[in-house]
Amino acid sequence: MVKRIEHLGIAVDNIEESIKVYEILLSSPCYKEEIVESEGVRTAFIMAGESKIELLQATNEDSAIAKFLSKNREGFHHVAFEVDDIDLELKRLKGEGFQLIHETPKSGADNKRIAFLHPKSTKGMLVELCQEKSE
Ligand code: ZN
Repeated sequence: MVKRIEHLGIAVDNIEESIKVYEILLSSPCYKEEIVESEGVRTAFIMAGESKIELLQATNEDSAIAKFLSKNREGFHHVAFEVDDIDLELKRLKGEGFQLIHETPKSGADNKRIAFLHPKSTKGMLVELCQEKSE
């Protein structure tokens, strides 16, 4: 079951500059910065009320964010829905014909298990499912 929009991911060229902009915009400090080596991204999180903004900067040229920014300007990248059981949701969505980028959840930033759905099957939106790690 989807519980809420957990965060919006925004691809940026310069994360330090972007943190400053979003801290002022949201009147909220960046509470976490984290590098996810497996994804080639540096992330920063800022609360937006009960949801969050996730800023993403590429750490290498093979990163999905680097590829995105080679084709698009910086800006909206993905929406993340928090679910109560990510394994069950992936199974359900696969059964419904959605194209999964990750067949099984992987370890993401901010203490989450995550998996992405391909925009081809979501009317153009890159969708992340996430669930807080229990341990
Ligand atoms: Zn995300």
